[in-house]
Amino acid sequence: MPVIEEIRAFHDELTGWRRDIHAHPELGFEEQRTSDLVAERLAGFGIEVHRGIGKTGIVGRLRIGNSPRAIGLRADMDCLPIIEANSFDYRSQNQGRMHACGHDGHTTMLLGAARYLARTRNFDGTVHFIFQPAEEGLGGADAMLADGLFDEFPCDAIFGMHNRPGLAVGKFQIRPGAMMAGGAFFDIAITGRGAHGARPESGVDPVLAASHIAAALQSIVSRNVRPVDTAVVSVTQIHAGDAYNVIPERAVLRGTARCFSKATMRLVEDRMRQIAEGVAAGFGASASLDFRATFPPLVNDPDETRFIADTAAELVGDDNVNRQAGFVMASEDFAAMLERVPGAYIQIGNGDGEGGCEVHNPGYDFNDAAIPYGAALFARLVERRLARMGG
Ligand SMILES: [Zn+2]
Ligand SMILES: [Zn+2]
Repeated sequence: MPVIEEIRAFHDELTGWRRDIHAHPELGFEEQRTSDLVAERLAGFGIEVHRGIGKTGIVGRLRIGNSPRAIGLRADMDCLPIIEANSFDYRSQNQGRMHACGHDGHTTMLLGAARYLARTRNFDGTVHFIFQPAEEGLGGADAMLADGLFDEFPCDAIFGMHNRPGLAVGKFQIRPGAMMAGGAFFDIAITGRGAHGARPESGVDPVLAASHIAAALQSIVSRNVRPVDTAVVSVTQIHAGDAYNVIPERAVLRGTARCFSKATMRLVEDRMRQIAEGVAAGFGASASLDFRATFPPLVNDPDETRFIADTAAELVGDDNVNRQAGFVMASEDFAAMLERVPGAYIQIGNGDGEGGCEVHNPGYDFNDAAIPYGAALFARLVERRLARMGG
């Protein structure tokens, strides 16, 4: 029987787990109940469970045979601080917490693969089931890496997936190389000299300097980044002053930058610093930049991209796998794991029908119909990569 049919046999149960996790969402590094549930299920399948890797992170290890080959499969477990707008009976029971990014579904798909693989045992090698906490900007991947994830659980290749609203269930999309943007946050502090609003000649106006800096920063993407590279520089906050008749001492600009390579990110940071300091100096003020690159760009290994796309094509047919998907400006912290171990990150269709709702929206819900596709893809990656020799 094809893997997906074997997994469909317990689709109802998986849907029940998914909805249970959906009803009990937990923020990053607080995934206590969720990780208890994951650990309990893995242990129930007879899989070795390791907890406390990146605080609430879990790794399940399943070793069959003697091959030294090892593969890592990763899902995320955290929710978002959003008030859920849905009214179905499994809506969030935790006020102000919501699984609005589908990590409840990702966790369930990996559990489904674990259950299938622990029972069928049709491979030779080691699978590491990596359940990561705190994907939504709190550094869960880094926390697992800092706790020795790949030292303790070495992997030859790692794979992950994210649901994609607007893409039909049963379809996948991916691109080799850089696929998702790296992200940085920045603060520019501008210092002038306070004065009476009616006597500007006696001070140095940081508001005027900040305005020119905000405008000049827009030249980085248009004049410094190569047109074939993609980058975003957005100033999203300007703060200064409290009174109508006071020129303040200080102003602050804040915002975000997104790029698809570390080299571009360095270029953006360097130009931002030169512009901020240079423009401020031109007005007699001073400026300092604090630039924090929080997510690296997500870069898919070309060979592993082909491998996961071929595996997906085996499940759903080549017509349902887009191997040249567009760039995604959002960031994803699985990128940090992909910097250490080659692998690939694929998008799985969450449905393109009516009511299809973007992630991070209060009306979003993971589509349970996608579960067997994701679970079967994870399982087949293992069976193909760790195929029995001569067996
Ligand atoms: Zn998200
Ligand atoms: Zn997500």
